Amino acid sequence: MELCRFMQPIRTFNVSPSLPKPLEPLRKLAYNLHWDWNVETKDLFRRLDRDLWESSRHNPVLMLGTISQARLQEVAEDEGFLAQMERASRQLDDYLKERTWYRKHRDKGEKTECYAYFCAEYGLTDCLPIYSGGLGVLAGDHLKSASDLGLPLVAVGLLYQEGYFAQYLNADGWQQERYPINDFYNMPLHLERKADGSELRIEVDYPGRTVYARVWRVQVGTVPLYLLDTNIEPNNPYDHDITDELYGGDLDMRIHQEMMLGIGGMRALQALGYKPTVYHLNEGHSAFLILERIRKLMQEEGLSFHEAKQVAQSTQIFTTHTPVSAGFDLFPPDKAMYYVGHYANIFGLSREEFLGLGRENPADLASPFSMAALALKTASYTNGVSALHGEVSRVMFQGLWPNLPLPEVPITSITNGVHARSVVAKPTQELYDRYLGPSWSDKGADDPLWERVNSIPDEELWRNHERQRSELVVYVRERMLKHLRDRGAPPTELAQVHEVLDPSVLTIGFARRFATYKRANLFMRDMERIKKIMRANKDRQVQFVIAGKAHPKDMPGKELIRQIIRQVREAGIGDHVVFVPDYDIYLARMMVAGCDVWLNTPRRPREASGTSGMKGAMNGLPNLSILDGWWDEADYVRTGWPIGHGETYDDPEYEDQIEANALYELFEEEVVPLFYNRDSEGIPRGWVAKMKDAIRFNTPVFNTARMLRDYAINGYFPASNRHFAMTSDTYKPAKELASWKRQLFERWYDIKIEDVDIAAPADLMVNQSVAVKTRINLAGLSADDVQVELYQGAINTDGQIMNGLPVVMEYQGTDESHRSIYTGDVVYGASGLQGLSLRVLPKHDYLSSPYELGLVLWA
Ligand SMILES: *Cc1c(COP(=O)(O)O)cnc(C)c1O
Repeated sequence: MELCRFMQPIRTFNVSPSLPKPLEPLRKLAYNLHWDWNVETKDLFRRLDRDLWESSRHNPVLMLGTISQARLQEVAEDEGFLAQMERASRQLDDYLKERTWYRKHRDKGEKTECYAYFCAEYGLTDCLPIYSGGLGVLAGDHLKSASDLGLPLVAVGLLYQEGYFAQYLNADGWQQERYPINDFYNMPLHLERKADGSELRIEVDYPGRTVYARVWRVQVGTVPLYLLDTNIEPNNPYDHDITDELYGGDLDMRIHQEMMLGIGGMRALQALGYKPTVYHLNEGHSAFLILERIRKLMQEEGLSFHEAKQVAQSTQIFTTHTPVSAGFDLFPPDKAMYYVGHYANIFGLSREEFLGLGRENPADLASPFSMAALALKTASYTNGVSALHGEVSRVMFQGLWPNLPLPEVPITSITNGVHARSVVAKPTQELYDRYLGPSWSDKGADDPLWERVNSIPDEELWRNHERQRSELVVYVRERMLKHLRDRGAPPTELAQVHEVLDPSVLTIGFARRFATYKRANLFMRDMERIKKIMRANKDRQVQFVIAGKAHPKDMPGKELIRQIIRQVREAGIGDHVVFVPDYDIYLARMMVAGCDVWLNTPRRPREASGTSGMKGAMNGLPNLSILDGWWDEADYVRTGWPIGHGETYDDPEYEDQIEANALYELFEEEVVPLFYNRDSEGIPRGWVAKMKDAIRFNTPVFNTARMLRDYAINGYFPASNRHFAMTSDTYKPAKELASWKRQLFERWYDIKIEDVDIAAPADLMVNQSVAVKTRINLAGLSADDVQVELYQGAINTDGQIMNGLPVVMEYQGTDESHRSIYTGDVVYGASGLQGLSLRVLPKHDYLSSPYELGLVLWA
C-alpha cells in the first residue's frame, strides 16, 4: 500500500489525439464500433497506416493516438483519402438514422421501451479482448444485430483489466498464457461522466464495505454497451481485482464479480437514466440483478415482496447456454447467505425461503444456490439456443415443473446466429452485394433474393474462394513464424514454416475452445488411415488448420492440445496439420473464409449450439459435423455432410471408434472426390453447387438478424407489454395478480375433478368425435381462474400419453351442488392405442403462460 500511495500521480490526464481539422471525422468513426462491420471504414483505417493497423491489433483509437503528426498531415491533404473518409462518415450517419425494422414492426403507442441485456463477456472485435469464446461472440453479435434492426437495447457487462489470455505454446506443445493489460484510454471506450465532468460512479454493498465502480461505454452502432470497472480508489486491492480477469479467481471472486455485474449493472443503468421495460439475462451470471430489482420495487414503489417479484418476473427473459448441469454456477448456501443474505431481510424471507429462490427443489436444504435456478424461477420467458438444446434443457429442468409432460416444460429455444457483415470476408461480401443486392445480410429465408445465389457465376465464386484460401495460408505462416521467433525457436524450425500448408490443397478447418467433449483429435484416431487420406494421392491431398484455447484451469483441455502437437510431430505430418496459436476473433474470421470445409466433432448433445460452423457456411463452406447444436436442424445433406445420424452412446470409446470411422468414410467417399472433381476449366462444379447451397440455405437462417427478430417478437415485445400492463395504474394489475396467485395457491389443492363422462363406443373409428363432460369442484375459485383441458395422444409402451395434444373444454355453468361443468370433444386422427386425460391449469390474462406457476391438476 505504501508503495502504491507513493506512486500515485497528483493528477492524471487523458491525452486525446490531436487531429488536423479536416480529419476530425476520424474520431467519430473510430469510437463507433460500426467500423468493425463496415468494410469501407475498416479499409480507411488500414489505408491510414497499414503497419500500425496491424500492430495496434486493428484498433483505430490506439492508431489515432500513436500515429505520427507527419502522416496525419499527409493524409489531410490526400484528396483520395478525404473522399473515402467522407464516404465512410456519411455511411455511419445514414446507418444511425436508417434502421427501420423496429419502427415498422413494433406498435407500442406513445410508450418508450428499453431492453436491458446482461452478459459476463462480449466478443465484438479483436482489439477489445473481453471475451473468452462462443458466449461472448454471440453476445457481441446480438448487440450488432440489435443495432441493425434499431431495437432500443442497452447492454451491460464488466470491463476486464486483463484481457482474456493470449495463448502460446512451449516447445513441448503445452499451453502458456499471457495476460495483456487493457489500456482503456487507448481503446474505443468512453468514460461516462456526470454533468460537472467528474467520473460517474456507482456503489454496491459487499460484506462490511462498499465497492465503487466507474462506467465505460462502447458504442456499437446505436446500441450502448456499459462496462463496469472497479479498478479505482478508494476500493481496497481485492476489490480492484473484481473486474480484473474474466472468469478468474476462486468461488468468492466469482460471487464478487456476479454481484457487480447484476447489482452494479442495475445501479449503472439507473444512474445513467435508463428505465428498462425488459431484462434479458444472457446466461445466469447476472441473475443477482433480480434481487436488486425486487428490492427497488419494494423500497421505492412500496410493493410487497410477492408483488415486486411478480413485476420483475413478468419482464425477465433468461437464455441458457449450458447443456450439462455441471456447467452452472453453484454456490454453497452459507456463501450465498454471506454475500447476498441481506436481501432476505429486506424481502422479509427466512433463510431457507430466500435460498429456495435459487434451488430447483426448495425443500432440498442441502442443495447449493444455483444462479441458473434463480434466473429460471424468476423469468417469464426462458430459451435454449438450438432446438436440440431446448429439448435437453427441458429434460434438465423438468424438476421445476413436476406435473407437466416434458414437451410442455416452458423452456423454448431460439437458435443462435452470427452477424453476417462481421464474419463474411470483405471480397465475398462485395460479391454478394453485387449479385444479391446489399440487403442480403439481414434478409429472411423467404426472401426471393436467395434465388439469385444461383446466378453467381461458378468461376467467380470459386476464384474468390481460392484467393481466401491463399490468404489464409500466408497469414498462418506469418503467424507461426512470429510465434516461433517469440519462443526463440531454432532456424531449422523457422525454415520449416515455409513448407507448411499448400494454398491449392483441400483445407479442413477446426477451431474452438479446447474442451475435451469437442474431441479435436478425433480425426487422428487412426493415424495411418488419416495419413493416407491426407497424402496418399499426390493430386488429392488434404490438410488441417486447427486453433483454439483451453481454459487456463482445464488441464485435460491443455493436455489435448499437447497431445495433438505430439501426434502430429511423431507422425511427421507437420506440413499437413498445423495448430495456429492464439485463436481470436481475427483468426476465426480468416479461417472461416479460407478453409474449404468446417469440421466439428462434439459428443452429442454437448454442443448447445455452436456458431463457428455458421460463420463458415456464410462464407460458402460446407460443414462436416456430428448432428449436434445448430447443425442438427440445418439442411445438412444439401449444405454439407452429417457424421452419423444423431445417435448418442453410453460408451465413449465405442462412440469415438464409430464416429471416427464414419468421418474417414465421408472423407474418402464424398468430400475428397467432390472437391477434386474438376472440369476442363479447373472448376469443381459439384463442390461449388454445395457452396452455393451452404450460402443460400444457411445465411438467412443462422444469422443474428433472424435471431434478434425472434427475440424481439417472442421475447422483448410480449415482456414489454407485460411491463406496461403490470406497472399501469400504480401497479394495480401486479398487485391483483400477486394476490390472485396467493388465493390460487391456497385453494388449488382442494380442487377436485368429481367425475368424467366419456360418450365413446367400445370400437372407436378414426375421425369419429367423442363427447366428454366433466364436473369439477373449484374449491371457491371461479371459472375465470382456471382452464380445463382434455389431453389426448397415442400411448407408448410405458402406458403414458406421448406428444399429447391439449383441447380446451367449454364452461357450461354449475350444477345444483355448485360444481362447474365443462364439455369438450375429442377426435382421434390416428388408429392404435390412444389415451385421454383431463387437466386443470391456472388462467389469468397477465400470466405469461398457464405454466408460469407450475400448477397442474390431472384427472
Ligand atoms: C465464433 C467463435 C467462437 C465460437 O465458436 P463455436 O463453434 O461455437 O465453438 C469462439 N471463439 C471465437 C474467437 C469465435 O470467433
